[in-house]
Amino acid sequence: MCPQCGNQVHFNNSQCFTCHAVLAYAPLEDQLVGLTPDMTAPSGRTCCSNREKIGCNWLRESNDSTGLCLSCLHTTRIPDTFDPIKAGHWSRLERAKRRLFYALIKFGLPLEPQPDRTTGSLMFEFLSDEIKPDGKVKRVMTGHASGCITINIEEADDAIREKHRTALREPYRTLIGHFRHEVAHYYWEKLIVGQDMLDACRATFGDDRADYGAALRAHYANGPRPDWQQSFVSSYACAHPWEDFAETWAHYFHMVGGLETAYAYGLNPQPIIPGAPQLVQLDDPYHVSDHAQLLEHWVPLTVAMNAMNRAMGHRDYYPFALTPVISDKLKFIHDLIEAQ
Ligand SMILES: [Zn+2]
Ligand SMILES: [Zn+2]
Ligand SMILES: [Zn+2]
Repeated sequence: MCPQCGNQVHFNNSQCFTCHAVLAYAPLEDQLVGLTPDMTAPSGRTCCSNREKIGCNWLRESNDSTGLCLSCLHTTRIPDTFDPIKAGHWSRLERAKRRLFYALIKFGLPLEPQPDRTTGSLMFEFLSDEIKPDGKVKRVMTGHASGCITINIEEADDAIREKHRTALREPYRTLIGHFRHEVAHYYWEKLIVGQDMLDACRATFGDDRADYGAALRAHYANGPRPDWQQSFVSSYACAHPWEDFAETWAHYFHMVGGLETAYAYGLNPQPIIPGAPQLVQLDDPYHVSDHAQLLEHWVPLTVAMNAMNRAMGHRDYYPFALTPVISDKLKFIHDLIEAQ
């Protein structure tokens, strides 16, 4: 809501469409604030220095020394911004990443104030393929290693991402999906390795000591097992227990973020089952006592949204089906996040 006129403003807006107030978002306070003519918040805080460059609408934290907001300062490598196409990719990546950080803050997940390469803290590298002098292309692989999440910036190009999506027969491939998936690998290392939850995690997702490289090669050579839909949220989740954990974690973020967004716009679809009780909006989808409550609300929303998308000729909003086994996996993620 616009702090000046009370009209609707959206997550990425830097200005109110109605009263033209110049706005910025304070992530830790979860507050949209109006800026003074010198672009300062009433608290004296200033804007992220990526505001002009890529339209970041977040405020810096008061103790920040980098000039950047909490989300942007975790990006340690960016593409060549003199190339307008690459700068556009970077902008789209940061826009999706702010949604990730928004959720991490809402869930109360641990987050280092600054990226630090020596401690395996969370950081992001947005890189592009390199053409070597001999003409060979050095591919950038999207993935996670010791806290560092690398994204090939070409994923921000709709046509290229769609090409990969169809080649890999994925029903869903988005930037926000990449961020939610990759950050799961980071939190697996933070919250599971060497922690009490490790045995329960292995009981839920399988033994992660299975050779990862061999598992991935087998997955790409043979495809997923025929009955994967019964127990895995996506075919890629079959590849290895780490990937199952990451895909399920990403899904949990989809559900919670999706419900919060629906509620913000007054959407609260009901199950089309005769005699089913009316669902009352959850107070805070980020913190519910029982994961089953989320599913109960999420399923009717996805049914309605899929029908809406089909009515407009788009692909399904939510091309997934949740089974009892997947629900148990989501419960593990819910309990893990709630414990933080
Ligand atoms: Zn306004
Ligand atoms: Zn920023
Ligand atoms: Zn992964």
